[in-house]
Amino acid sequence: MSRRKIKTKRVMAFILCLCMVATVMFCSQYLALHTSHSCLGLNCPECVRMYHAVNALRQFAIALLALAATLHLFTAWRRQISPLYGYISFAASLVRLKVKLNH
Ligand SMILES: [Zn+2]
Repeated sequence: MSRRKIKTKRVMAFILCLCMVATVMFCSQYLALHTSHSCLGLNCPECVRMYHAVNALRQFAIALLALAATLHLFTAWRRQISPLYGYISFAASLVRLKVKLNH
């Protein structure tokens, strides 16, 4: 992968993180400001917007929990298999064994 593609991916990931942080901040700010509104009843537009904000925050929370659980399981798996993984990945390489290939 070229450096330009890596840099582009990093910039896109940074922009995505900024969008996620902005969404969480705006949703929580909206909920804080409009919690005590004069409700119009069944089809209140403020309540609908608050419902969507809560739903977005809930989905972010679920995604973060899934990411944390995945990272935890991956690190636990890596610790369990790391001696074997290190043996396979490093000891078996030609560079690690210092094999000369200039015949
Ligand atoms: Zn309302």
